[in-house]
Amino acid sequence: MPLQKSWVESANSVDSQFPLNNLPYGVFATNSLEPRCGVAIGDMILDMFAAEEAGLIELAEDAVFDVPYWNDVMELGPEAWDALRSRLIQLLAEGAAEQAAVAPLLVPMSDARMELPMVVAEFTDFYAGKNHAVNVGTMFRGAENALPPNWLHIPIGYNGRASTVVVSGTDVVRPNGQTKAPDADTPSFGPCKRLDIELEMGAIVGTGSEMGHPVSVTQADEMIFGYVLLNDWSARDIQAWEYQPLGPFQAKAFATSISPWIVTRAALEPFRTSTPEREKELLPHLQEPKPMLYDIDLSVTLQPRDGKEVTICETNYNEMYYSAAQQLAHHASSGCAMTPGDLLGSGTISGVEKNQRGSLLEMSWGGKEPIDIGGGQTRSFIEDGDTLTLHGAAKGDGYQIGFGTCTATILPAVKFT
Ligand code: MN
Repeated sequence: MPLQKSWVESANSVDSQFPLNNLPYGVFATNSLEPRCGVAIGDMILDMFAAEEAGLIELAEDAVFDVPYWNDVMELGPEAWDALRSRLIQLLAEGAAEQAAVAPLLVPMSDARMELPMVVAEFTDFYAGKNHAVNVGTMFRGAENALPPNWLHIPIGYNGRASTVVVSGTDVVRPNGQTKAPDADTPSFGPCKRLDIELEMGAIVGTGSEMGHPVSVTQADEMIFGYVLLNDWSARDIQAWEYQPLGPFQAKAFATSISPWIVTRAALEPFRTSTPEREKELLPHLQEPKPMLYDIDLSVTLQPRDGKEVTICETNYNEMYYSAAQQLAHHASSGCAMTPGDLLGSGTISGVEKNQRGSLLEMSWGGKEPIDIGGGQTRSFIEDGDTLTLHGAAKGDGYQIGFGTCTATILPAVKFT
């Protein structure tokens, strides 16, 4: 599919993250506008509260854009999502009859402060990238025990915290926690010394499922509203001490950052791609009937407080072993109820090469091989004042489906004993 042209000129540039083909959903505020839903087009945001009030958008009998979150739209289901997308394309396409009515409802992105696009119902994080799992497993348990015996049969996950999911741009305070060095007799408490990122995609569940009712992988795919970039901040020293036998807890609970724009499944449709060949055949309830991953270029940059921004990782979402649809089907397979606004982290996305690794733990191989970040500086883990940014875009023919960025600066730990 080529670039679809809009009367919003900035959306037609090959460099625009938000052409008419994209139309991602966010929540924004300005100095004069209360937080509200918006749709990105070029360097502008369409004010959905105003568009609905003006009668340009009518999705349901009751208003759905009178609240600053997208959960009400999610609950309407896939037919309404398609109707909304078609209407937005109609309103914003080149030659639209409604241009004069819509133009005054556009707000410059540069005037907007982004907020979380939805009420995050619950957060689950998976561990579904094989390169990452092998790398981390090798460091934590040795090469022969790198992949746990269940890994090739189910997407392993843990239930995380929705309460500390924050939007891009929110500072993250270095966590305190209990750790024990391998050569120490007793544990100690204090600021995390091995603070890390995890480059992930977040899938947002749009329609829920009922308790006691599993869903197929096909149904799961149709339940997904869209995707965001997700940084699953990780305290490796806290994690190493606490993680057995129930998995990560405080090492992950202090913060998870997401990008502000939900890129819809419809926008990503041209970029569908298959998961890699199975090394062990999956049981029927987890098999995929069609390609359910996406070809999305991803990268990570690090900017020290007193230095230049440098790219430390370049990889692609197509490196995952399990898709979000498989993860969602697995999640509901016991009868676990899924809810509109549930956020599913993909697991760290790492390629095979060293510069494709999605965590500092892997890049610096547990701190043994610090990476060069220029200006005479190296990093094994994150230092206070560092700004870490995830970038993502699916690259089409003369256009891209951009995710914007997912960024945060690390502040020093709170003094606490
Ligand atoms: Mn993770």
